[in-house]
Amino acid sequence: MSQNDKVEVIIVGAGPAGLTCAYSLAKRGAEVVVIERGEYPGAKNMFGGIFFSSIMEKIFPEFFDEAPWERFVGKRKFSILAGKSELAFDMMPSAFNEKPYNHSFITLRGTMDGWLAKKAEGAGVSIITDYCVSDFLYEKGKIVGITSGSGDEDNLLADMIVCAEGANSILTEKAKLRKKIDPERRSIAIKENMRLPQNVIEDRFGLAGRQGAAFEYFGEAVQGLLGNGFIYTNKDSLSVGVGFSLSDFIKNRNGKNPNDILEDFKSHPSIAPLLKGAEIVEYMAHMIPSDGFDSLPKLYRDGLLVIGDAAGLLNTSFFHEGVNLAMASGIYAADTIMEARRKNDFSSQTLSLYEEKLKDSFVLQDIKNCKNFLSFLHKNKSLINDYPTLMNDILVDYFRVSEKPKTAVKKEIFRKVKKNVKFTRLAREMWGAWSNLI
Ligand SMILES: Cc1cc2nc3c(=O)[nH]c(=O)nc-3n(C[C@H](O)[C@H](O)[C@H](O)COP(=O)(O)OP(=O)(O)OC[C@H]3O[C@@H](n4cnc5c(N)ncnc54)[C@H](O)[C@@H]3O)c2cc1C
Repeated sequence: MSQNDKVEVIIVGAGPAGLTCAYSLAKRGAEVVVIERGEYPGAKNMFGGIFFSSIMEKIFPEFFDEAPWERFVGKRKFSILAGKSELAFDMMPSAFNEKPYNHSFITLRGTMDGWLAKKAEGAGVSIITDYCVSDFLYEKGKIVGITSGSGDEDNLLADMIVCAEGANSILTEKAKLRKKIDPERRSIAIKENMRLPQNVIEDRFGLAGRQGAAFEYFGEAVQGLLGNGFIYTNKDSLSVGVGFSLSDFIKNRNGKNPNDILEDFKSHPSIAPLLKGAEIVEYMAHMIPSDGFDSLPKLYRDGLLVIGDAAGLLNTSFFHEGVNLAMASGIYAADTIMEARRKNDFSSQTLSLYEEKLKDSFVLQDIKNCKNFLSFLHKNKSLINDYPTLMNDILVDYFRVSEKPKTAVKKEIFRKVKKNVKFTRLAREMWGAWSNLI
């Protein structure tokens, strides 16, 4: 690149958001360069992860036959670990075990992002790797390009720049679209990819063919922090990890570091047998945005749009949906840029169309709907800690075999519940849970 090189659109970040935006633009004739700091798209990326593919399948109907997904999600389990015990809700709906498999596919980002990048390149997108954008270039206060900070020869100019740099977006701060990211607005996750022979995975998790399992664990799984542990079955490996609110971790870490929490999770009696014999082949850590609807950054300014995790577009409720929101935002950004290109007007006034499109879609409507999810759980941690423990004790008492008459057992349970639960508080919490969590 030379100091004066100029293209129509620069996209910073080759994740699902950036690549989808790039593909949509290039398909319609725009000149697009994607800049990625990793050695290759996907090199720096990780997620749990279920790739929610409804948007992906709209753009690439060949996704099911061609894309490198590991397994479809046929089995789900939501479990609470209480001490050394486990209480679980298991589901294997037949509807999720038939095409389109509830648009939910267990995936590894290294291969999936690579596949998406090939699609974008096929449409004419140029991808420059190993380049970390350190700042924007400005002309009379307007953003006109990007720089790596290592000399003019690395600078690149553009009519439009799209920031798709993910959860740890420094550039949105530099563009004054958000305040400094604070721990209240981020979760942290660490994950291991653990190799295990395919037949062992299928026998151990009771899976047939490409069927996969997505197990999520709350409560003791993350030492009562606001977050969860997870196991997802890949073809011949397991994705195993923990994720939790950064601010909750800082306040309640009890001297532990995130890796201690992962190790404790892995050694829990419900988890260890599932991992037996598995060999760690990859270790990853990443941040997850939890901005919430009321703290989202500003999404545009003259010559700049922000998409995906960089814009905080993640459904932080039980759904954990990120990639489909990221891809949808990439498409809306591309539509907006095409409109700006037609008018030859890249001002914030024209670019505000992007926010309108997000507001009309599931993206901002879902984020708005779950805006109190995390704050409600922060204030009512008994829901994830105390009640599950009590429920576990009750079930143990109820099913314990003894010569005690069952009516006496029931009376004892009732007394225990009365002693531990304030019914007015419980009613309030249940109503709160209904309004804020579901
Ligand atoms: C542990 C974990 C579990 C998750 N589980 C799920 C799940 O099961 N399902 C789901 O749908 N979502 C899940 N998510 C969320 C999902 O991963 C994100 O919502 C999604 O990846 C966002 O896509 P993106 O393109 O915006 O950002 P990213 O995927 O983070 O991509 C950003 C890209 O920008 C590059 N980059 C960053 N800074 C620069 C720079 N300065 N210069 C150049 N390149 C740069 C990065 O290397 C990266 O390639 C999970 C996230 C985590 C961390």
